[in-house]
Amino acid sequence: MQEYMNSTEKASLVRPFSKRPLIISGPCSAETEDQVMHTAMALARDKRVDVLRFGSWKPRTKPGNFEGNGEESLPWISRAMEATDLPAAIEVASAHHIEKAMAHGIRMFWIGARSTVNPFTVQEIADALLGVKDVSVMIKNPLSPDVELWTGAYERIKSAGVESIALVHRGFSSFSPSKYRNPPMWAIPIEMRQRFPEVPLICDPSHICGNRQHLLHISQRAIDLDFSGLMIEAHIDPASAWSDAAQQVTPSTLNEMLDHLIWRHSGKQSIRNHPQLQDLRADIDHIDDQIVHLISERMNISTKIGYYKKEHGITVLQNKRWADIRQRLNQKAKESDLSVAFIEAYLEAIHLESIRKQNEVINK
Ligand code: PEP
Ligand code: MN
Repeated sequence: MQEYMNSTEKASLVRPFSKRPLIISGPCSAETEDQVMHTAMALARDKRVDVLRFGSWKPRTKPGNFEGNGEESLPWISRAMEATDLPAAIEVASAHHIEKAMAHGIRMFWIGARSTVNPFTVQEIADALLGVKDVSVMIKNPLSPDVELWTGAYERIKSAGVESIALVHRGFSSFSPSKYRNPPMWAIPIEMRQRFPEVPLICDPSHICGNRQHLLHISQRAIDLDFSGLMIEAHIDPASAWSDAAQQVTPSTLNEMLDHLIWRHSGKQSIRNHPQLQDLRADIDHIDDQIVHLISERMNISTKIGYYKKEHGITVLQNKRWADIRQRLNQKAKESDLSVAFIEAYLEAIHLESIRKQNEVINK
Protein backbone atom coordinates (compact mmCIF):
# COMPACT_ATOMS: atom_id res chain seq x y z
CA MET A 1 0.00 0.00 0.00
CA GLN A 2 1.49 3.33 -1.04
CA GLU A 3 1.32 6.53 0.97
CA TYR A 4 -0.88 9.42 -0.08
CA MET A 5 1.05 12.74 -0.22
CA ASN A 6 0.49 16.08 1.44
CA SER A 7 -0.34 19.07 -0.75
CA THR A 8 3.09 20.75 -0.58
CA GLU A 9 4.70 17.60 -1.90
CA LYS A 10 2.06 17.41 -4.63
CA ALA A 11 2.63 20.96 -5.80
CA SER A 12 6.39 20.48 -6.02
CA LEU A 13 6.26 17.33 -8.14
CA VAL A 14 8.04 17.75 -11.44
CA ARG A 15 6.36 14.69 -12.90
CA PRO A 16 3.07 14.72 -11.08
CA PHE A 17 1.66 11.71 -12.92
CA SER A 18 4.32 9.37 -11.59
CA LYS A 19 2.72 9.39 -8.16
CA ARG A 20 0.84 6.22 -7.24
CA PRO A 21 -1.99 6.26 -6.36
CA LEU A 22 -2.83 9.48 -8.17
CA ILE A 23 -6.31 10.83 -7.52
CA ILE A 24 -7.75 13.45 -9.87
CA SER A 25 -11.20 14.76 -9.20
CA GLY A 26 -13.51 17.65 -9.94
CA PRO A 27 -16.71 18.42 -11.77
CA CYS A 28 -17.37 17.57 -15.39
CA SER A 29 -17.88 21.30 -16.09
CA ALA A 30 -16.85 24.49 -14.33
CA GLU A 31 -20.40 25.88 -14.05
CA THR A 32 -20.21 28.86 -11.70
CA GLU A 33 -17.55 30.33 -9.45
CA ASP A 34 -19.47 29.07 -6.42
CA GLN A 35 -19.71 25.54 -7.75
CA VAL A 36 -16.00 25.51 -8.63
CA MET A 37 -14.91 26.83 -5.22
CA HIS A 38 -17.24 24.69 -3.12
CA THR A 39 -16.41 21.51 -5.00
CA ALA A 40 -12.67 22.23 -4.89
CA MET A 41 -12.65 23.04 -1.17
CA ALA A 42 -14.65 19.92 -0.31
CA LEU A 43 -12.35 17.74 -2.42
CA ALA A 44 -9.21 19.25 -0.93
CA ARG A 45 -10.38 18.33 2.56
CA ASP A 46 -9.75 14.73 1.55
CA LYS A 47 -5.98 14.73 1.57
CA ARG A 48 -5.90 11.88 -0.93
CA VAL A 49 -6.98 14.14 -3.82
CA ASP A 50 -3.86 15.22 -5.74
CA VAL A 51 -5.21 17.15 -8.70
CA LEU A 52 -8.46 18.99 -9.44
CA ARG A 53 -10.19 18.65 -12.79
CA PHE A 54 -12.61 21.04 -14.53
CA GLY A 55 -14.19 21.26 -17.97
CA SER A 56 -14.02 24.82 -19.31
CA TRP A 57 -14.63 24.04 -22.99
CA LYS A 58 -16.95 21.06 -23.32
CA PRO A 59 -16.90 19.16 -26.61
CA ARG A 60 -20.55 18.09 -26.82
CA THR A 61 -21.59 15.36 -29.22
CA LYS A 62 -24.69 17.33 -30.25
CA PRO A 63 -25.32 21.08 -30.33
CA GLY A 64 -27.66 22.65 -27.82
CA ASN A 65 -26.10 21.17 -24.67
CA PHE A 66 -24.04 23.21 -22.23
CA GLU A 67 -20.70 23.84 -23.94
CA GLY A 68 -18.79 25.19 -20.95
CA ASN A 69 -18.09 28.71 -19.75
CA GLY A 70 -14.80 28.89 -21.65
CA GLU A 71 -12.44 31.70 -20.74
CA GLU A 72 -14.79 33.10 -18.12
CA SER A 73 -14.23 30.02 -15.94
CA LEU A 74 -10.42 30.23 -15.93
CA PRO A 75 -10.09 32.82 -13.12
CA TRP A 76 -12.40 30.64 -10.96
CA ILE A 77 -10.07 27.70 -11.52
CA SER A 78 -7.03 29.85 -10.64
CA ARG A 79 -8.70 30.85 -7.41
CA ALA A 80 -9.58 27.23 -6.64
CA MET A 81 -5.93 26.25 -7.10
CA GLU A 82 -4.81 29.03 -4.81
CA ALA A 83 -7.40 28.28 -2.14
CA THR A 84 -6.68 24.54 -2.08
CA ASP A 85 -2.97 24.50 -2.89
CA LEU A 86 -3.73 21.85 -5.51
CA PRO A 87 -2.90 21.88 -9.22
CA ALA A 88 -5.83 21.80 -11.64
CA ALA A 89 -6.21 20.16 -15.03
CA ILE A 90 -8.59 21.23 -17.79
CA GLU A 91 -9.51 19.81 -21.16
CA VAL A 92 -7.95 21.58 -24.15
CA ALA A 93 -8.76 21.13 -27.81
CA SER A 94 -6.87 23.99 -29.48
CA ALA A 95 -3.82 26.26 -29.25
CA HIS A 96 -6.18 29.03 -28.13
CA HIS A 97 -7.34 26.99 -25.11
CA ILE A 98 -3.73 26.35 -24.07
CA GLU A 99 -2.73 29.97 -24.42
CA LYS A 100 -5.69 31.18 -22.32
CA ALA A 101 -5.25 28.47 -19.67
CA MET A 102 -1.52 29.17 -19.25
CA ALA A 103 -2.27 32.88 -18.89
CA HIS A 104 -4.28 31.84 -15.83
CA GLY A 105 -1.54 29.67 -14.34
CA ILE A 106 -2.98 26.33 -15.44
CA ARG A 107 -0.19 23.93 -16.44
CA MET A 108 -2.05 20.63 -16.58
CA PHE A 109 -4.17 19.63 -19.51
CA TRP A 110 -5.98 16.67 -20.91
CA ILE A 111 -6.86 15.87 -24.48
CA GLY A 112 -10.42 14.52 -24.59
CA ALA A 113 -11.60 11.42 -26.40
CA ARG A 114 -13.23 13.48 -29.15
CA SER A 115 -9.91 15.24 -29.80
CA THR A 116 -7.57 12.24 -29.61
CA VAL A 117 -9.34 10.82 -32.67
CA ASN A 118 -8.26 13.82 -34.71
CA PRO A 119 -4.54 14.04 -35.58
CA PHE A 120 -4.94 17.67 -36.74
CA THR A 121 -6.22 18.68 -33.30
CA VAL A 122 -3.57 16.68 -31.47
CA GLN A 123 -0.85 18.18 -33.66
CA GLU A 124 -2.15 21.70 -33.03
CA ILE A 125 -1.95 21.03 -29.28
CA ALA A 126 1.54 19.53 -29.64
CA ASP A 127 2.71 22.59 -31.61
CA ALA A 128 1.29 24.93 -28.98
CA LEU A 129 3.26 23.04 -26.29
CA LEU A 130 6.51 22.84 -28.24
CA GLY A 131 9.36 23.75 -25.91
CA VAL A 132 7.01 24.82 -23.10
CA LYS A 133 8.47 23.76 -19.74
CA ASP A 134 6.63 22.36 -16.71
CA VAL A 135 3.43 21.34 -18.37
CA SER A 136 1.70 18.01 -17.94
CA VAL A 137 -0.61 16.40 -20.44
CA MET A 138 -3.04 13.51 -20.06
CA ILE A 139 -4.16 11.85 -23.26
CA LYS A 140 -7.53 10.17 -23.13
CA ASN A 141 -8.13 7.22 -25.40
CA PRO A 142 -9.86 8.01 -28.70
CA LEU A 143 -13.61 7.31 -28.94
CA SER A 144 -12.92 4.26 -31.09
CA PRO A 145 -10.88 1.29 -29.84
CA ASP A 146 -7.93 2.23 -32.02
CA VAL A 147 -4.54 1.59 -30.42
CA GLU A 148 -2.70 3.28 -33.30
CA LEU A 149 -4.61 6.57 -32.91
CA TRP A 150 -3.93 6.60 -29.18
CA THR A 151 -0.28 5.77 -29.85
CA GLY A 152 -0.05 8.49 -32.51
CA ALA A 153 -1.45 11.09 -30.11
CA TYR A 154 1.12 10.05 -27.48
CA GLU A 155 3.94 10.31 -30.00
CA ARG A 156 2.86 13.77 -31.17
CA ILE A 157 2.76 15.16 -27.61
CA LYS A 158 6.01 13.43 -26.69
CA SER A 159 7.71 14.88 -29.78
CA ALA A 160 6.77 18.37 -28.61
CA GLY A 161 9.12 17.77 -25.66
CA VAL A 162 6.41 17.37 -23.01
CA GLU A 163 8.05 15.30 -20.26
CA SER A 164 5.08 14.65 -18.06
CA ILE A 165 2.50 12.60 -19.94
CA ALA A 166 -0.12 10.12 -18.76
CA LEU A 167 -2.65 8.02 -20.64
CA VAL A 168 -6.26 8.08 -19.49
CA HIS A 169 -8.57 5.18 -20.21
CA ARG A 170 -12.21 6.33 -20.44
CA GLY A 171 -13.75 3.47 -22.43
CA PHE A 172 -14.91 3.28 -26.05
CA SER A 173 -18.09 4.17 -27.92
CA SER A 174 -20.13 1.13 -28.76
CA PHE A 175 -23.23 0.53 -30.83
CA SER A 176 -24.15 -2.63 -28.93
CA PRO A 177 -26.27 -2.25 -25.81
CA SER A 178 -24.12 -2.22 -22.68
CA LYS A 179 -24.52 -1.41 -19.01
CA TYR A 180 -21.64 1.02 -19.52
CA ARG A 181 -21.75 4.34 -21.32
CA ASN A 182 -18.36 3.54 -22.88
CA PRO A 183 -17.44 -0.13 -22.45
CA PRO A 184 -13.92 -0.49 -21.04
CA MET A 185 -12.41 -3.00 -23.53
CA TRP A 186 -9.48 -3.52 -21.17
CA ALA A 187 -7.32 -5.14 -23.85
CA ILE A 188 -6.70 -1.69 -25.39
CA PRO A 189 -5.13 0.04 -22.36
CA ILE A 190 -3.26 -3.19 -21.60
CA GLU A 191 -1.77 -3.04 -25.10
CA MET A 192 -0.83 0.62 -24.52
CA ARG A 193 0.98 -0.38 -21.36
CA GLN A 194 2.88 -3.05 -23.27
CA ARG A 195 3.95 -0.38 -25.74
CA PHE A 196 4.73 2.31 -23.17
CA PRO A 197 5.51 0.59 -19.86
CA GLU A 198 6.92 3.77 -18.33
CA VAL A 199 3.89 5.97 -19.03
CA PRO A 200 1.42 6.22 -16.14
CA LEU A 201 -1.99 4.77 -16.93
CA ILE A 202 -4.96 6.46 -15.28
CA CYS A 203 -8.54 5.19 -15.36
CA ASP A 204 -11.55 7.48 -15.75
CA PRO A 205 -14.36 5.27 -14.44
CA SER A 206 -16.86 8.16 -14.66
CA HIS A 207 -16.94 8.24 -18.45
CA ILE A 208 -16.71 4.45 -18.71
CA CYS A 209 -19.74 3.95 -16.47
CA GLY A 210 -21.95 6.93 -17.25
CA ASN A 211 -23.62 6.28 -13.91
CA ARG A 212 -22.62 6.25 -10.27
CA GLN A 213 -23.42 2.68 -9.37
CA HIS A 214 -20.60 0.91 -11.20
CA LEU A 215 -17.84 3.42 -10.35
CA LEU A 216 -16.35 1.52 -7.45
CA HIS A 217 -16.28 -1.77 -9.31
CA ILE A 218 -14.59 -0.28 -12.40
CA SER A 219 -12.11 1.64 -10.24
CA GLN A 220 -11.06 -1.49 -8.36
CA ARG A 221 -10.83 -3.39 -11.63
CA ALA A 222 -8.45 -0.73 -12.99
CA ILE A 223 -6.33 -0.78 -9.84
CA ASP A 224 -6.07 -4.57 -10.05
CA LEU A 225 -4.89 -4.18 -13.64
CA ASP A 226 -2.06 -2.02 -12.23
CA PHE A 227 -3.41 1.38 -13.26
CA SER A 228 -1.65 3.99 -11.17
CA GLY A 229 -4.41 6.57 -10.81
CA LEU A 230 -8.07 7.48 -11.12
CA MET A 231 -9.86 10.48 -12.57
CA ILE A 232 -13.32 10.64 -11.04
CA GLU A 233 -15.89 13.35 -11.67
CA ALA A 234 -17.17 14.94 -8.46
CA HIS A 235 -19.66 17.77 -8.02
CA ILE A 236 -20.93 19.54 -4.94
CA ASP A 237 -24.50 18.79 -6.11
CA PRO A 238 -24.38 16.07 -8.80
CA ALA A 239 -28.12 15.88 -9.41
CA SER A 240 -28.17 19.47 -10.64
CA ALA A 241 -24.97 19.27 -12.73
CA TRP A 242 -25.11 20.97 -16.13
CA SER A 243 -23.36 18.03 -17.79
CA ASP A 244 -22.89 14.34 -16.95
CA ALA A 245 -25.24 14.54 -13.95
CA ALA A 246 -25.82 10.78 -13.77
CA GLN A 247 -22.17 9.87 -13.29
CA GLN A 248 -20.86 12.49 -10.87
CA VAL A 249 -20.51 11.86 -7.13
CA THR A 250 -20.35 14.23 -4.18
CA PRO A 251 -16.94 14.82 -2.61
CA SER A 252 -18.07 12.80 0.41
CA THR A 253 -19.05 9.83 -1.79
CA LEU A 254 -15.63 10.09 -3.41
CA ASN A 255 -14.15 10.00 0.06
CA GLU A 256 -16.07 6.79 0.85
CA MET A 257 -15.04 5.25 -2.45
CA LEU A 258 -11.38 5.94 -1.69
CA ASP A 259 -11.82 4.28 1.70
CA HIS A 260 -13.05 1.11 -0.01
CA LEU A 261 -10.48 0.86 -2.78
CA ILE A 262 -7.57 -1.49 -2.23
CA TRP A 263 -4.28 -0.48 -3.82
CA ARG A 264 -2.25 -3.62 -4.23
CA HIS A 265 1.48 -3.76 -4.93
CA SER A 266 2.37 -3.55 -8.59
CA GLY A 267 4.72 -6.48 -7.99
CA LYS A 268 7.46 -4.86 -10.05
CA GLN A 269 9.97 -4.42 -7.23
CA SER A 270 8.99 -7.20 -4.91
CA ILE A 271 8.55 -10.26 -7.09
CA ARG A 272 11.74 -11.93 -5.78
CA ASN A 273 10.14 -11.99 -2.35
CA HIS A 274 7.36 -14.26 -3.58
CA PRO A 275 8.91 -17.63 -4.49
CA GLN A 276 5.52 -19.34 -4.56
CA LEU A 277 4.33 -16.85 -7.17
CA GLN A 278 7.50 -17.48 -9.17
CA ASP A 279 6.81 -21.25 -9.12
CA LEU A 280 3.22 -20.76 -10.26
CA ARG A 281 4.43 -18.49 -13.06
CA ALA A 282 6.93 -21.12 -14.16
CA ASP A 283 4.01 -23.60 -14.40
CA ILE A 284 2.04 -21.09 -16.49
CA ASP A 285 5.03 -20.54 -18.81
CA HIS A 286 5.39 -24.29 -19.26
CA ILE A 287 1.69 -24.65 -20.17
CA ASP A 288 1.87 -21.66 -22.54
CA ASP A 289 4.80 -23.32 -24.34
CA GLN A 290 2.77 -26.49 -24.72
CA ILE A 291 -0.27 -24.56 -25.99
CA VAL A 292 1.80 -22.83 -28.68
CA HIS A 293 3.33 -26.17 -29.68
CA LEU A 294 -0.12 -27.80 -29.92
CA ILE A 295 -1.56 -24.89 -31.92
CA SER A 296 1.35 -25.15 -34.31
CA GLU A 297 0.68 -28.90 -34.73
CA ARG A 298 -3.01 -28.17 -35.28
CA MET A 299 -2.14 -25.67 -38.01
CA ASN A 300 0.14 -28.18 -39.72
CA ILE A 301 -2.76 -30.62 -39.91
CA SER A 302 -4.97 -27.80 -41.25
CA THR A 303 -2.44 -27.23 -44.00
CA LYS A 304 -2.52 -30.95 -44.90
CA ILE A 305 -6.31 -30.79 -45.05
CA GLY A 306 -5.93 -27.75 -47.32
CA TYR A 307 -3.88 -29.82 -49.80
CA TYR A 308 -6.45 -32.60 -49.64
CA LYS A 309 -9.34 -30.18 -50.29
CA LYS A 310 -7.45 -28.66 -53.21
CA GLU A 311 -6.85 -32.06 -54.78
CA HIS A 312 -10.50 -33.08 -54.41
CA GLY A 313 -12.11 -29.71 -55.24
CA ILE A 314 -13.66 -29.26 -51.77
CA THR A 315 -14.36 -25.74 -50.38
CA VAL A 316 -12.29 -24.43 -47.48
CA LEU A 317 -15.31 -23.61 -45.31
CA GLN A 318 -17.31 -26.68 -44.27
CA ASN A 319 -20.23 -25.32 -42.31
CA LYS A 320 -21.45 -28.57 -40.80
CA ARG A 321 -17.98 -29.59 -39.62
CA TRP A 322 -17.44 -26.16 -38.04
CA ALA A 323 -20.82 -26.28 -36.26
CA ASP A 324 -19.96 -29.74 -34.88
CA ILE A 325 -16.58 -28.55 -33.55
CA ARG A 326 -18.20 -25.58 -31.82
CA GLN A 327 -20.93 -27.66 -30.26
CA ARG A 328 -18.51 -30.33 -29.02
CA LEU A 329 -16.09 -27.81 -27.48
CA ASN A 330 -18.82 -25.65 -25.96
CA GLN A 331 -19.98 -28.76 -24.14
CA LYS A 332 -16.40 -29.48 -23.02
CA ALA A 333 -16.01 -25.86 -21.86
CA LYS A 334 -19.05 -26.20 -19.63
CA GLU A 335 -17.74 -29.46 -18.15
CA SER A 336 -14.33 -27.84 -17.53
CA ASP A 337 -15.65 -24.69 -15.85
CA LEU A 338 -14.55 -22.47 -18.74
CA SER A 339 -16.88 -19.77 -19.99
CA VAL A 340 -18.55 -20.48 -23.32
CA ALA A 341 -17.82 -16.89 -24.42
CA PHE A 342 -14.12 -17.50 -23.87
CA ILE A 343 -14.08 -20.80 -25.78
CA GLU A 344 -16.07 -19.19 -28.61
CA ALA A 345 -13.53 -16.35 -28.89
CA TYR A 346 -10.65 -18.86 -28.83
CA LEU A 347 -12.29 -21.06 -31.48
CA GLU A 348 -13.01 -18.14 -33.73
CA ALA A 349 -9.36 -17.09 -33.65
CA ILE A 350 -8.23 -20.66 -34.36
CA HIS A 351 -10.79 -21.09 -37.14
CA LEU A 352 -9.86 -17.83 -38.88
CA GLU A 353 -6.16 -18.72 -38.80
CA SER A 354 -6.92 -22.21 -40.07
CA ILE A 355 -8.98 -20.79 -42.97
CA ARG A 356 -6.16 -18.37 -43.77
CA LYS A 357 -3.66 -21.24 -43.95
CA GLN A 358 -5.95 -23.35 -46.14
CA ASN A 359 -6.65 -20.42 -48.46
CA GLU A 360 -2.90 -19.98 -48.91
CA VAL A 361 -2.56 -23.65 -49.91
CA ILE A 362 -5.61 -23.75 -52.19
CA ASN A 363 -4.62 -20.62 -54.10
CA LYS A 364 -0.95 -21.51 -54.40
C1 PEP B 1 -14.71 14.95 -19.62
O1 PEP B 1 -13.68 14.55 -19.07
O2 PEP B 1 -15.56 15.64 -19.08
C2 PEP B 1 -14.93 14.50 -21.02
C3 PEP B 1 -15.68 15.17 -21.87
O3 PEP B 1 -14.35 13.34 -21.24
P1 PEP B 1 -14.20 12.42 -22.55
O4 PEP B 1 -13.30 13.15 -23.49
O5 PEP B 1 -13.57 11.21 -21.94
O6 PEP B 1 -15.58 12.16 -23.10
MN1 MN C 1 -17.84 14.63 -18.18
